[in-house]
Amino acid sequence: MTIAVFPGSFDPLTNGHLDLIQRASRMFDHLIVAVGQNTSKRGVFTASERVAFIEAGTQALANVSVQVEAGLTVDFMRSVNATVLVRGLRNSTDFEFEQGIAGMNRSLDDQIDTVCLMAAPKYQFVSSSLLKEVAQFGGDLTQLVPPAVAQGLRDRLERDK
Ligand code: ADP
Repeated sequence: MTIAVFPGSFDPLTNGHLDLIQRASRMFDHLIVAVGQNTSKRGVFTASERVAFIEAGTQALANVSVQVEAGLTVDFMRSVNATVLVRGLRNSTDFEFEQGIAGMNRSLDDQIDTVCLMAAPKYQFVSSSLLKEVAQFGGDLTQLVPPAVAQGLRDRLERDK
């Protein structure tokens, strides 16, 4: 049984993330989406809000679960017996970044392999940070995020005005 972990900030979940989750859930027996408490990025949504969006978006996927992860991803992976770390690649910038992280993780634990999936062409330009900027100016995000996330972004930005 192969357990995979898809770690990220997911602040918030996008259809690009969801596409990757769906594809990875077909490849592995179990997929854990690990919501990180990233120290260098200040979140718009709390970890539990981010988890709730992902749980709602993955209800139909029986082998996907969601957890919050606070420490090193490799430590979290060992604690849940996961051996595959899933990440997404949208462009060459992602590649450079992921190559560095994969190398570091490999030096921390050489039993863990990183598997990178290419972003779907229609979501190649979708990032949580860009979406937050578009949302701030009232742009339409309905094609790019689940409806609950679009509503959540509108509410949050209205509150923080
Ligand atoms: P992090 O802050 O850890 O990069 P993100 O939530 O931004 O977390 O992204 C998590 C993972 O999802 C990363 O591997 C990223 O490359 C991937 N990802 C982000 N957006 C997309 C997308 N539109 N299509 C495919 N993968 C994506």
